[in-house]
Order: sequence, then C-alpha cells, then structure tokens
Amino acid sequence: MAESSTLGARVGKSTGPAQADLDKCVHCGLCLNACPTYRELGVEMDSPRGRIQQMIDVSNGGPIDADYIQHMELCLACRGCETACPSGVPYGRMIEAARAEIEAQRKRSRSARFARRFIFHRLLPSRVMLEIAGAGLYLYQVSGVQKIIRATGALDLLGKFGRIEALAPTVEVPFFFSQIGKTFPAEGERHYRVAFLAGCIANLTFCRLNEATVRVLQKNGCEVVLPAAQNCCGALHVHSGLKEEARGLARNNIDALLGSEFDAVITNAAGCGSTLKEYHELLADDPKYYEKAKQFSLKMKDVTEFLASIELNPNMRSLEYAVTYQDSCHLLHGQKIKTAPRKLLRAIPGLTFREMPNADICCGSAGIYNILQNDMAMQILEHKMASVNVTKAQVIATANPGCMLQLEAGARLYGSGQRVAHVVQLLDEAYRPKA
Ligand code: SF4
Ligand code: SF4
Repeated sequence: MAESSTLGARVGKSTGPAQADLDKCVHCGLCLNACPTYRELGVEMDSPRGRIQQMIDVSNGGPIDADYIQHMELCLACRGCETACPSGVPYGRMIEAARAEIEAQRKRSRSARFARRFIFHRLLPSRVMLEIAGAGLYLYQVSGVQKIIRATGALDLLGKFGRIEALAPTVEVPFFFSQIGKTFPAEGERHYRVAFLAGCIANLTFCRLNEATVRVLQKNGCEVVLPAAQNCCGALHVHSGLKEEARGLARNNIDALLGSEFDAVITNAAGCGSTLKEYHELLADDPKYYEKAKQFSLKMKDVTEFLASIELNPNMRSLEYAVTYQDSCHLLHGQKIKTAPRKLLRAIPGLTFREMPNADICCGSAGIYNILQNDMAMQILEHKMASVNVTKAQVIATANPGCMLQLEAGARLYGSGQRVAHVVQLLDEAYRPKA
C-alpha cells in the first residue's frame, strides 16, 4: 500500500518517464506472461502494459494518486517485461523515472522521512555507520536474543513483521571492510589486473562471499585491487527514486576507480552491476562526468561475465551435487547475461546442472521489495520454490546476494532445506582441497 495518502497533481514533466519511451509501447501485451505480479494477480493494472498506460495517463495530466502509487510500488522493477518486449520498451528506466516523480511529490510522515534520511543518506554511504549497525545486529544475532525471540513465537504474533525479521541477513565477522584498500596478488602468472567493488551491506553480511570472489579471481590469474575510496553503488537509491543521491555516489566511485589501469571493474552483485553499468544514463545531464561514466560503464563486469570470458583455470576438484540456477533479474534482464553463470556451473567437474522451469521469473527479492511488499514477495517466492523443488537439486545457485537471502527463506519455508550458493562460491569450493 502506498506509504502516504497525501496526493498531488503532476508537477512539470521533468522527472517522469520520457515521452519517447512511453511512445514505444504498442500495447501488444506480449510482456504480460513475463511479469511476476501479473502472473500472481491477473490484474491489468499490475501488468507492464497496464503500468505503462497509467504512466501515460499521468503524463497527460492525470493525478499521481494512491492507486497509481500502489501499482508502481507493487512492480518489482525486475525488467522481465523489458526482455520479453519486441518493441524495445526501456521499462527499467521508465519505472525509475515514475518513482522519482512520485518521490518528488510525496509528503511523508516525519518518522518515515527520518527513517529514509537515515538509511539512504547516513547509513548506506558511510562505512563507519554500516560497521556500527553491523556490530549491533551481530550482537543481536549471536547473544541469543534473536534465538529466544524466535523460539518464543513472538515474531509470529507480529505477522508480516515477523516474516520480515526472518529475511534479515546474518552478519558475518570479521567484516570484509577490513580488506578494503588492499591488493591481492594473482596466483601464478598475472594475466589481468582488476578492481573489485565489494558493495556496502555486503561488507557486513556477505563477507565470505566477497572473500571467495577474490580467491576465485586470484586462481584465474587476476591481481585483485580493492580501491580504498570505493563506496555504495547507489542502486537502492535509484530504485527508491533518490536519483540525486545516487548521482553523488556514482561520481565518487568513478573518481575512485577510473584513473587506474584496470582490465575490468568486478562486482559479484548483479543488482549493483546493473546500476554501475548504467552510470552514464544516471549522469547523462552532467557534462563533467558523462564521458567518464561511459568509460566506467564499459569497464564494469559481473564476476560471472568476466570469468566466462577468459580461459578458466580447470584445476578443480569434483563437486557431486545436483545444482539448479535461478537467474538474477538484474543479471538476466538488466545486463542480458544468461549463459555465463550456466557455463561456469557446467565447468565444475562432477556437478549435475538441472535447469528449473521459469528460472527467468523473479524470486521476489528485488532489492528491498521483499521487505516493503512482503506479501507479494512471499507469494512469488512460494511459486519459485515449486519450480526449484521439481528439479530435486540439493543446491540453488544464483548470482546476487539479495536473491540468495530470498531463496534461503524459500528453502526454509517452501523447500526441502536446499543450500543456496553464489556461483563463485561453488567455483571457490571446487578450487579448494576437500576439508
Ligand atoms: S511493453 Fe512491449 S511487450 Fe509490453 S505491451 Fe508494450 S510494446 Fe507490448
Ligand atoms: S519490471 Fe517486473 S514486475 Fe514490473 S512490470 Fe516489468 S515484469 Fe512486471
């Protein structure tokens, strides 16, 4: 449901979707079956075509009212419709623009404004604040308080909020922040020099994944540099309609990374990668940074994309698992990368790869969607796990930390306790001697 009931008429057209983009839709409906919310609800207004029609109505002077906000917010921004669309409708940037326009007009409650300001302005961009928050969450998780609260069933009484708590990531110590600023040598002969963008929250909650990513790159002839001045990529800001804040973070990352001679800038988070590769769109109106952003975007590579493009070190041990793969929307639909992760999984000796039905449909994670739109996210997840379960795979592989959390919840709630792993974690396991 829309957070605020304060409505407003459209103010100017500068922040809404571009008319040229709106005009591209021929309303054929070929995208409908690719849309998770349409598949769940069967409601035109919650389909890509219906949402585009509502954007057109607003563009023609219609109100930005609670209904409009609700339909825009129920969209996962998964961009499944973009892949399905034969007319090349750039839905991803249209929904971002629609949300930015909503954001520009929305009057939020004081507490909501405070929470957003804290999360987007103070927490995500600041290493110090993230470390403080991480330490607090770690204490909650290891002191036994979380266990007691879960065991009492108190979270069940909280309904949706209890389910949201179950989606919270586990904080991992030591934090990966301690590695930022370091350089890791290639194992054997150096073939590439790459920079690794380690994320923001991932430095607290996916520390072992980040370590595995560095090790796998080292095994494949990469010197891995973790530039000290890197910061949050701004993806969550973009998806929440906070473009100006995202632009500031983008400029910082460009300054931190572009001057050095890297063969590639690597990320292991498809959600971040999608935004990082679109910095030139984010900074299109910035004459000082636009060209630099274009160069930066060309250097950006998802870790699976990079590894699949080089001659992979074949010295792996056998992993005798059946593995299925869930496409991360921001890898498949945002970056059009489908074969690279599958190619890497198939390169692991002993591993049996089993394709699941509808692997290209979102799992319901979608950044912080599973928190903000928890009911729909869980409905989508239940159907996703039905697809996973038919494969009888023991492991669900994916290429994005957010999807991993969602799928872990899915394996607990609707699956058979399958293990969830990033593709590079399985490669890392294959490169290491058996414990
Ligand atoms: S977004 Fe594309 S596929 Fe969907 S209705 Fe419009 S033109 Fe057709
Ligand atoms: S981005 Fe995803 S949820 Fe949103 S309209 Fe497109 S397919 Fe549907």
